[in-house]
Amino acid sequence: MTIRINKVAKGTGLKAIVEEMSGVSLDACYQCRKCSAGCPVAGPAKSAPSEIIRRLHLGAGDELLENGLVWMCLSCETCYGRCPMQINFAAVIDALRSLALARGSKVPEGNMPLFNRMFLANVRVFGRSYDLSMIAGYKLGSGSLMSDTEKFPTMLKKGKMAILPPSGADKKAVRRIFEKAMPGKGKKQ
Ligand code: SF4
Ligand code: SF4
Repeated sequence: MTIRINKVAKGTGLKAIVEEMSGVSLDACYQCRKCSAGCPVAGPAKSAPSEIIRRLHLGAGDELLENGLVWMCLSCETCYGRCPMQINFAAVIDALRSLALARGSKVPEGNMPLFNRMFLANVRVFGRSYDLSMIAGYKLGSGSLMSDTEKFPTMLKKGKMAILPPSGADKKAVRRIFEKAMPGKGKKQ
């Protein structure tokens, strides 16, 4: 994959703030690209973990917040698992997403930000992911109420989706995490 590095940074470089938000130091990255070789969305996103890190090293600013990988990342942590320097790139992506929302950056077309919001809202309320509620919120938000509904009976039959909300989660602990990570978002709603 050819990687083009934009030499003109928008605003101040993001490396320091991303490192602070994610708790990940990027200095140890030596561009071996093992992370990028295993990333399942590097192709469709037209970007790769090692490229994002290199751009941060070189002083990339807010233009990075519009990068496709920021929203296409699946948080699968394959990059983290493959990294010889144990750089948690999935946490870096989380920080970039938070920054993109906070700074009103142009988000990609499609419903990835909506899906992300619905997932987090459900974890916040139920303490764990509650797929049925998350899908209902996503469908209402996206307006595509009937898409993929034919798969629903099979998923229920195979136990891939529960009707009832998850139980046993430590909701108070999860709310505390939200409150710390996203002040004002941990309160009961
Ligand atoms: S695997 Fe780790 S060290 Fe190698 S390029 Fe990716 S982040 Fe950098
Ligand atoms: S966590 Fe995101 S960036 Fe890392 S391998 Fe998975 S999809 Fe790619």
